[in-house]
Amino acid sequence: MNIIKGTVFALLIFAAPAVAQQNPDWHRELPGFKIAGNLYYVGTADLAVYLINTPQGNILINSDFPEDVPLIKKSIERLGFKYSDTKIILASHAHGDHDAAVGIIKKDTGARLMIMDADVAETESTRPGRPGAKVDRVLHDGDAVELGGSKLTAHLTPGHTKGCTTWTMQVDEGGKKLNAVIIGSPNVNAGYVLVGNKNYPQIADDYVKTFRVLKSLPVDLFLGAHGAYFGMLAKVEKMKAGGPNPFIDPAGYKAYVSEREATFLKEWERQKQNPGTPAP
Ligand SMILES: [Zn+2]
Repeated sequence: MNIIKGTVFALLIFAAPAVAQQNPDWHRELPGFKIAGNLYYVGTADLAVYLINTPQGNILINSDFPEDVPLIKKSIERLGFKYSDTKIILASHAHGDHDAAVGIIKKDTGARLMIMDADVAETESTRPGRPGAKVDRVLHDGDAVELGGSKLTAHLTPGHTKGCTTWTMQVDEGGKKLNAVIIGSPNVNAGYVLVGNKNYPQIADDYVKTFRVLKSLPVDLFLGAHGAYFGMLAKVEKMKAGGPNPFIDPAGYKAYVSEREATFLKEWERQKQNPGTPAP
């Protein structure tokens, strides 16, 4: 029993850093670009950061790791915006690859940090490896975040974390309204326990709820917390080549959500058959 517990613990501790070392795109520079309307991409080659530009300043979704902040700043400035104009900082979910630098951005810019209720404790936690940033506004499912005429809606899509958040907004592109969906995460990470999870008993039901929410959202622009979710690097190349905006991809969104749901259901079934064995 102790050996099993030890193994599970080791998996939980080492899973994230192992992934971090294996994905060179996480900290690779990608020039910032306009997605549509007042919505821009200012993250790295995989860790997504979104900028919403308004006449009253900018909103950022995600911070990435502290080492990525200089790249984010550079992207913001090269697009003609000011890092110091950041008024609000939001997050996809309370994992370091998306929020480890929220405290740094708050300190640098004076932006207000707004986080979904069930992720607040994790965001503010100062245990080793966590940033411990103070949350200025606690969000609840369906809450709106508004600035300078732009409105974002926070959808609770839990499972990956308890407060995992999918952000939606409408952007105006040439007089046309486009529905943007920024998926928080539909993924079951290595080490996750879906059956008999003492720290998160309702985890599997939460994933079920998440897929229901994701399937219900109107979508034109398919986006997410990692570029890999929506084939970003290939779409950036397509965009350079001209033609229709490749980020308008409702079919790609549907296919992605269906595939992730099938993967979750398969893993849930596997754990029901093999209780106590976490996700590989
Ligand atoms: Zn995550």
